[in-house]
Amino acid sequence: MGIPIELHITFILLLLLVYYFWGLDGLILYMFLFASVVIHELAHSYIAKKYGVHIERILLLPIGGMAMMDRIPKRGELKIAIAGPVVSILLGIVLIILSYFIEGPVLYIEGIDYPLITTVAILNILLGIFNLFPAFPMDGGRILRSLLASKMNYIKATRIASIIGQFLSFVLLLLGILSFNVILILIALFIYYGASQEYNTLVTEDVFSKIKARDIMTTRVVAVSPKDTVKDLVDLMFKYRYMGYPVVEDRKLVGSVSFNNISTVSDRIGVKDIMEPPTTLSEDATLKDVIKKLDRADRVYILDRNNRLKGIISKTDVLRMLKIIELKNNSKKDK
Ligand SMILES: [Zn+2]
Repeated sequence: MGIPIELHITFILLLLLVYYFWGLDGLILYMFLFASVVIHELAHSYIAKKYGVHIERILLLPIGGMAMMDRIPKRGELKIAIAGPVVSILLGIVLIILSYFIEGPVLYIEGIDYPLITTVAILNILLGIFNLFPAFPMDGGRILRSLLASKMNYIKATRIASIIGQFLSFVLLLLGILSFNVILILIALFIYYGASQEYNTLVTEDVFSKIKARDIMTTRVVAVSPKDTVKDLVDLMFKYRYMGYPVVEDRKLVGSVSFNNISTVSDRIGVKDIMEPPTTLSEDATLKDVIKKLDRADRVYILDRNNRLKGIISKTDVLRMLKIIELKNNSKKDK
């Protein structure tokens, strides 16, 4: 499918540990388990590809695998999520049927015989069932959300799915504590964290993509001409107290000058000799795009469809916006 499959470096350590405790047979079984995980992830990827999702790679960590893909389209989510568990369980059933006809090798781990085919079959079925647990980041959480999303809006569906997931992982945690099962406790904590994370990420992303550049830009633009000198610029800074200015010629944005450009040069130098190429975005760009651009520039210039300068967004503008969003969220929680 053209998808790179990568092993995390900690895998080497894990293989050594497995070999140390369970010998060569343990290592073989472990390889088969992870081959099963790869097949599970490839099942997700195969359906995801049909929905046009780009899959960057499949990463195998000692605790499991994950397919790193672009954002999953809402309409494909159910099928993509269900594909993994379905394939794992089907593979398990096929292997069980196969084990009636073919004996296969028997692994010997810690004094117990493990017929390879049957053991791998059971592992696949457990893998499928475990992933159906209805909590993020498990497949079951996504299945639950897309079922809920057919009845209500996506964010509300995510919130309910995340609450159910947190509740179930709490029950799992209690069971783990009562039975002194460390692995169960760790799994419960992992799911609890994932369940709450999914909702928070979605809400933040939703807010960030709803706010447009035109909503946060400063429209009172003070521009300079490329023919102005540094002295003119300093005078302007003294008057308006802005740290950066667009350079405009014939109503077109041609550059950007800021305090940093002028602090070391002589007064008589022209603006055109020190200006830098401007960082620009369209009015329809989202807050998310703006934040990305501000990673490498102090201010972003906002252009309209005819490439005319409409406004400026500085880092301070974005910080102010984030504070307002936070205030809004807090007041919503109080209600
Ligand atoms: Zn899965």
